[in-house]
Amino acid sequence: MRDVCIVGGGVAGMAASIFTARAGLDTLVIDGGESILARNASLENYPGFPDGVDARRYLQLTREQARNAGAEFELGRVTRAEPVEAGELEQGFVLETEGGDPIETRRVIAASWSDSDYLVPLDVGRIQRGSKYFVDVDEGGRTAVEGVYAAGRIAGEPHQTVVAAGHGAKVGLAVIHDSDANFYHDWVAPEGYFTGRDRDVPPGCEEIDEAERRERDEQARETILEAFAEPLDEEPTMHPSVESE
Ligand SMILES: Cc1cc2nc3c(=O)[nH]c(=O)nc-3n(C[C@H](O)[C@H](O)[C@H](O)COP(=O)(O)OP(=O)(O)OC[C@H]3O[C@@H](n4cnc5c(N)ncnc54)[C@H](O)[C@@H]3O)c2cc1C
Repeated sequence: MRDVCIVGGGVAGMAASIFTARAGLDTLVIDGGESILARNASLENYPGFPDGVDARRYLQLTREQARNAGAEFELGRVTRAEPVEAGELEQGFVLETEGGDPIETRRVIAASWSDSDYLVPLDVGRIQRGSKYFVDVDEGGRTAVEGVYAAGRIAGEPHQTVVAAGHGAKVGLAVIHDSDANFYHDWVAPEGYFTGRDRDVPPGCEEIDEAERRERDEQARETILEAFAEPLDEEPTMHPSVESE
């Protein structure tokens, strides 16, 4: 049984997975297709990119970061989520996917804007606004069903990438705190930051020395330089109702 399955490998789902995987939770992201951000023409309000960034490049890099953190990805649309049958010792859920084997997990994060139909059997508290269904959550993304969370646009967050990413991270942290992972913060600090004050390095944190810091910086620079060396040969996805020529 997985520790956490994230339905939707878009902005919120990938951000959540970076946190849960880095905290040591066995994390599977199941993605049924494309993030709605693939329709963007130029992402210009995501902090850290002074002149903007190609949205598809942002998605690629975030996915690479999630994989580096230890998250696994599976392609497939989730069609149904149900509690593991009564009588089992462990609390959990079974996710059915189109064409794939059922997947068992202790916790589910729904990050699947704009589909929440698969949650109907769980009765999480969906809210209809016009043609859309949102999921009612608390401040940590917890739904009415223990072990089921929602993140990003589907949880009613504003329709912006940085907000969806931040919310995904916040929900990932709630999952970590609700699990038995030993965790304080996901921080990388310079050598001596804690130990220099006779404190143990808290769980989830890391102290690195100057040589290690320089090595990681070099690796990070190489990755970014390589990623941005050439323009991406991918175009934005057009809205399905716009007729193509
Ligand atoms: C044309 C356009 C331009 C935009 N421009 C900007 C901008 O400039 N700046 C900005 O901040 N924001 C912009 N946005 C908004 C931004 O794209 C969204 O707010 C953000 O992507 C929401 O993140 P999310 O993770 O909630 O959803 P998504 O990123 O859409 O991720 C949801 C994921 O769930 C998957 N999924 C859905 N159903 C299932 C299922 N049943 N099983 C498995 N997977 C499933 C989808 O395939 C998708 O990968 C734009 C959006 C559009 C449409």
